[in-house]
This record gives sequence, C-alpha cells and structure tokens, in this order.
Amino acid sequence: MSDFDLYRPAEEHDMLRETVRALAEAKIGPHAAEVDEQGRFPQEARDALTAADLHAVHVPENYGGAGADALATVIVIEEVARVCASSSLIPAVNKLGSLPVILSGSEELKAKYLGPLAKGDAMFSYALSEPDAGSDAAGMKTKAVRDGDFWVLNGVKRWITNAGVSEYYTVMAVTDPEKRSKGISAFVVEKGDEGVSFGAPEKKLGIKGSPTREVYFDNVRIPADRMIGAEGTGFATAMKTLDHTRITIAAQALGIAQGALDYAKGYVQERKQFGKAIADFQGIQFMLADMAMKISAARALTYQAAAASERGDADLTYQGAAAKCFASDVAMEVTTDAVQLLGGYGYTRDYPVERMMRDAKITQIYEGTNQVQRIVMARNLP
Ligand SMILES: Cc1cc2nc3c(=O)[nH]c(=O)nc-3n(C[C@H](O)[C@H](O)[C@H](O)COP(=O)(O)OP(=O)(O)OC[C@H]3O[C@@H](n4cnc5c(N)ncnc54)[C@H](O)[C@@H]3O)c2cc1C
Repeated sequence: MSDFDLYRPAEEHDMLRETVRALAEAKIGPHAAEVDEQGRFPQEARDALTAADLHAVHVPENYGGAGADALATVIVIEEVARVCASSSLIPAVNKLGSLPVILSGSEELKAKYLGPLAKGDAMFSYALSEPDAGSDAAGMKTKAVRDGDFWVLNGVKRWITNAGVSEYYTVMAVTDPEKRSKGISAFVVEKGDEGVSFGAPEKKLGIKGSPTREVYFDNVRIPADRMIGAEGTGFATAMKTLDHTRITIAAQALGIAQGALDYAKGYVQERKQFGKAIADFQGIQFMLADMAMKISAARALTYQAAAASERGDADLTYQGAAAKCFASDVAMEVTTDAVQLLGGYGYTRDYPVERMMRDAKITQIYEGTNQVQRIVMARNLP
C-alpha cells in the first residue's frame, strides 16, 4: 500500500460500491415508495440481495458466507439505504442478529445457524429490548430457567426488527436474577420453536417496510446447547455486538443522507424561481455545501470505525458510538434540509425526501439512543 492509499477504501471496496449501487438503483429503489406507502416487507430487495449474495455479507467464508470485512459490510448497507432505508435493514439486522453467535457461539451453533443465513434461507434477528427495558437493557424481565438438558424461556421482547420474517433470534434472558447484567445469558431461538409468537406490526413514523413486532415466549423449551457462550455472558456479548453493529447504523444514516443530498442536488438545477434555477442562489448553494460537508465528515468517522471494528481496536466502543451518533444526527439534519430545498413539494409523498426524513429519525433512536451513545462515549473517552 502506498502512503496515498492510507485514507481511502481499497479498490475492491470501490468496485463493491459500484455493484451494490447499480443493483440498488435497478431493483430496490423502484419499490421504495410503494414499500413505504403500503408498509410492506421489501421482498424484492430480499430477493435481489440474496441473488447477488449481498444479504448477509459478513458471514465468514468457512460457514458458507461471502466473508466481507466490516468496511465492505458498511458499503453494502450504505448503498442500499441510499435508495431504501427499510431494505438496508436486511443486511444490517442479519449481522446484528448473528454476530453474538459469531463472537461467542460454539462451533456447533455456528455450523448450524450461519450456513442457512449465508445461503439466504433464513434471516436473523436480535432480541434485547423489552417494554420496560430499553436504554436500561439490563433491567430485562424475560427469563430462562434450566430444566435438565433444556432451558425454558418466558417473557416479552419489544421492537424486534424483522420479527416474524426471521427464522432465527438471538434472545437475551435472565438466568440469575441476583446478578443483574452478569446474570443474563444469550440463546438462539427459532421461529418454529413451540411457544414463540409475534405481536401486530408497530405503526411507525418511518422504515415502514421493516417489520417491527413484539416477540412472545410462552414456556419455550430449547436444548441447552442453544446457549450462546457461557451462562451469564449474554449481556457482555450483546454489548460487544453493538460495538460492531452501531457502525452499520452509521452506514444506514450515511446512505439515507447521501440519497437525500443526491435528490436535492438534481432538483435545484431543475426548479426555476425568479427566472432562474434555484441552484443559482447562493443561499441554496450554501445549504448544499453544508450538507455535503457533514456527510463527508460522517463518512470519514464511519469508515474509520469500520476499520477499527475489523481490527478489533481497543477504542472500538468509543468509535462505534461516535460514528453512530454523529452520522445519525447528520442524517436528520441533511434530510430535513433536503425537504426544505424542495419547498412545498418536499413536504409531499410525491418526492422521496420526506420519506428519507422520516426514515432518518430512527437512526438517532435504535441500537441505543443518541443520549445513550453520549453516555457510552463519555465513559470511554479516547
Ligand atoms: C423501529 C425500531 C426498531 C428496533 N429494533 C430493535 C431490535 O431489532 N432489537 C432490539 O433489541 N431493540 C430494538 N429496538 C429498540 C431500541 O433499541 C430502543 O427503542 C432504544 O434503545 C430506546 O429504548 P426505549 O424505546 O425504551 O426508550 P427509553 O429508554 O425509555 O428512553 C426514552 C428517552 O429517555 C432517554 N434516556 C434514557 N436513559 C437516559 C439516561 N441515562 N440519560 C439521558 N437520557 C436517557 C432516551 O435517550 C430517550 O430519549 C428498536 C426500536 C425501534 C423504534
């Protein structure tokens, strides 16, 4: 590598971006407005991503996956989010749901669950949050009680992305109520396990194509070898997972923001007021410049964090939180400005920027709100 290559993605990353952008524009973007309007799962996106082996690129090659590094995974999510944020939750949540198994699972669990994920036969969800345990996730009530060679799970998980569509769920549950976060263990639960059921889809502001539902566990009896890692390590695994996957939320935010800037950039050239294109007004140019500048900064932070995730740097917790927090705040600002640049038209569903603004909001909330990210950063200052 020459010195000049230090601060840019490798050629393979640029080629991957071109491939994903072409696929996203041809096969995912055209359905984005309808998916949002109807609040339906973006099956076309799942099919297109699976056919191109882009649905779960992070799965290591020895389990049948593409073995993409963290930056490649970020680029896939960013490019899909640029046209449809809901669809970008397919590769993002497949990583979120399966990373606990990759980081802490036994060989048997990896062999059993990563293969179907890599093939596209199954999706993976992550079930940490509960109705009364969001930011304070360790306050969860779902419990698992040992019964011979089995664990029996009871409880409710809330806000679970892709619930009902995913075959597999990483579920965090209390195995020792005395020990709080050290008394939580992680398990793989299958959709077909007896006693698993789902609530009605939540009616949301944005990412309407991504199903968000409660998951109920009613005496769900699973074999003991479905535990991920040792008893009592589930919360640590859940947090370690988020260190890596918050970067995928940063990527999603970045993609949404870039999509909004790209659309607004074209619109201001076409729209004429006072006898000229509104792009000719300096007030408009300054807004576009600020949007682009913020996106560039968010991208630099996100790619730097992806590299830290790949290397397993000691300051990953800080970097992941910083990237997610910054990029999501940028996505909210940039999409709001994009709506402004389209004037009244921007406020209607005839143009994509209002959807992007609604979709951007969630990136400031999930995988830890941006207040929580600031707590995480403050505790891990570089
Ligand atoms: C669409 C969607 C999809 C989701 N997908 C998943 C998923 O797949 N899996 C999963 O496990 N979870 C998922 N979540 C849950 C998400 O991570 C939580 O909603 C989030 O962590 C916040 O928890 P809460 O909603 O209970 O809010 P609360 O924790 O009740 O927070 C309310 C407000 O208080 C603030 N706050 C709380 N504590 C503090 C503090 N100490 N200092 C300062 N401010 C504080 C928060 O920042 C927030 O502004 C999803 C949520 C949504 C909406």
